[in-house]
Amino acid sequence: MRKYEVILKNTMIRKEGNEIIAIFPPFFTKFREEELIGFLRKNINVEDINFENTHKIIVKADKNPKDFILYFIDAMFKSRMMNIITKREAIYIDETLELPLIGSHYFGLIDRGTNLIQIRPITGCNMRCIYCSVSEGPGFERLRDYVVDYEYLLKEYDKLVDFKGRKNIEAHIDGQGEPTLYPWIVDLVQGLSDIEGTEIISMQTNGYRLNDKLIEDLEAAGLTRINLSVDSLRDEKIRLINRTPVSASRIKKIIEAIVSSKIRLLVAPLWLPGINDEDIVEIIEYVLSLKPKSEWPIFGIQKYIPYAMGRKPKVNVMSFFEFYQKLRELEQKYNVKLVLSPKDFGIHKRRSLPKVFELYEVTKIKTVLPGRFSGEVIGVAKGRMVEITEYYGSLGKVVKAKILRNKDNIYVARAL
Ligand code: SF4
Repeated sequence: MRKYEVILKNTMIRKEGNEIIAIFPPFFTKFREEELIGFLRKNINVEDINFENTHKIIVKADKNPKDFILYFIDAMFKSRMMNIITKREAIYIDETLELPLIGSHYFGLIDRGTNLIQIRPITGCNMRCIYCSVSEGPGFERLRDYVVDYEYLLKEYDKLVDFKGRKNIEAHIDGQGEPTLYPWIVDLVQGLSDIEGTEIISMQTNGYRLNDKLIEDLEAAGLTRINLSVDSLRDEKIRLINRTPVSASRIKKIIEAIVSSKIRLLVAPLWLPGINDEDIVEIIEYVLSLKPKSEWPIFGIQKYIPYAMGRKPKVNVMSFFEFYQKLRELEQKYNVKLVLSPKDFGIHKRRSLPKVFELYEVTKIKTVLPGRFSGEVIGVAKGRMVEITEYYGSLGKVVKAKILRNKDNIYVARAL
């Protein structure tokens, strides 16, 4: 028997009593030391195991245990993983689950019949905005998170690009959460840019995790545009709206770093009447002072719209008429484009995937994964995911359900 040193590159290990915590941000998994020792004993002869520091494991064994340890930790992440930021269970989705990546709002791909494909690699957010349309952020307003294997995501994206004619495609990374929390965000951007037919890669982000290094890496990987949601440039207002301790000076640094890179910037504040009216003006003035270069508009001011499943701050909701009138006044004052249309971004109609269910159709669906709400599961039928509500049975069953939504190939059904 000899001593082997196993160095973990991307995963940190912490021992707490008899338990081992493996951390791969933003996720962690926990297992008992005996579980690992038992697994190693079953596969190789192991005498002793010591966790020297957060990245080094010393093992006395007959054979190099590195691959076995990596396999075990990987299997633990895939079977019981938690999101450190949201404190929720997280489910890892790869090809072995045989889950098509089209059909859900939560993760995968969304095709709304244009040349833009939405790519949703992860759920969960590091902010908790008072207006969030999907009530994201730390806590239990949603029950669990999902994270999709990037190779599987790229494989399915490639098929969709092919279906759409392999030209002028915008890959838009967004989601019910913050895309920069995806551990493979740079690899994902690189993979998207390597696929023939992708012309633009844009990403929605609150910017909280961006720094000079990540911006550089994303730039090198081929990210074309960042749609940055910034609702204020004042510390106390950021705390009030985004409920995050990020400072205005940090946000300004991020904006400046993007402007100095090749990545184009689109600043997208959400206008909450009575809360950030002056902030919107400040954002416009500040960003214009940096003279960002872009082929597209540099502002995408959003109107607050209350959503059924979202958070609803007490504000007077502007009518669309009022909103566009105000934008036009600001356009005149600052000589900048603020009233936008999809055409400004080169978005046009494109062949869309066929719908596989009629509205109100009663169909049979296999339940595969737990959903984000109580009584919700994600099912699969006819090569699509379906979010099934009012289902309290077990997974792996075929249930009868009525399709209540089929728009944009996103399917919601109620169990019967
Ligand atoms: S940053 Fe976006 S996803 Fe996150 S809480 Fe705010 S609105 Fe929701």
